[in-house]
Amino acid sequence: MNIPPPGVVIFDCDGVLVDSEPIANRVFARMLAEQGLVFDARQMDELFLGRTMAHCLALVADRLGHALPDDFEARHDRHLFDALAAELAPVPGVVQVLDGLALPFCVASNGGPDKVRLSLERVGLLPRFEGRLFSAAEVARGKPAPDLFLHAARAMGVAPAACVVVEDSPAGVAGGVAAGMTVLGFAAHTPVARLRDAGAHRIFTAMSQLPALLDAMAPTGATASL
Ligand SMILES: [Mg+2]
Repeated sequence: MNIPPPGVVIFDCDGVLVDSEPIANRVFARMLAEQGLVFDARQMDELFLGRTMAHCLALVADRLGHALPDDFEARHDRHLFDALAAELAPVPGVVQVLDGLALPFCVASNGGPDKVRLSLERVGLLPRFEGRLFSAAEVARGKPAPDLFLHAARAMGVAPAACVVVEDSPAGVAGGVAAGMTVLGFAAHTPVARLRDAGAHRIFTAMSQLPALLDAMAPTGATASL
């Protein structure tokens, strides 16, 4: 396909900027086990990776055949925030990518705004995304719908076709494709086939590969810093 030169890079947060998925999976799996639902790591990824919390909780209630306790989400958030605050690290290599990126960039996450801010703050990235932080809470539908990406493009003042999305989940890839954007699938943890099936235009497996991918799309090496 003919890929237009990038104008803005839209990063997903969990699994792309911050290495949160193993922590989030562990916390959620433990709380689900308390409810009598046991999933292995592969099932956790297939069912929940990159989805909104509302989607995850609805799916869990459906599997259980009854509603979750009223305080489930609040307790989950407390456990998750504690674990993120104690353990979260940036995705390896992503700080160097941001250091060298001359294109404007932002973050668009299915996570709630508090979680996104806490996550980025914990790894020292929040100042780079201040004012350019978009959460599914701001739109009607989270990923895999295109709403959040289109909202981010509008706020950044660029056409969707000029946006490059960096995503690690099939739901996020599908959302970027539905928004008419170029999507780079980050397959460090996610199986390549799942990102490709979701429509990713390019796949990469280490952040160190991202600058060259973006440079190849830009007409004049627009991603290289001075
Ligand atoms: Mg993600």
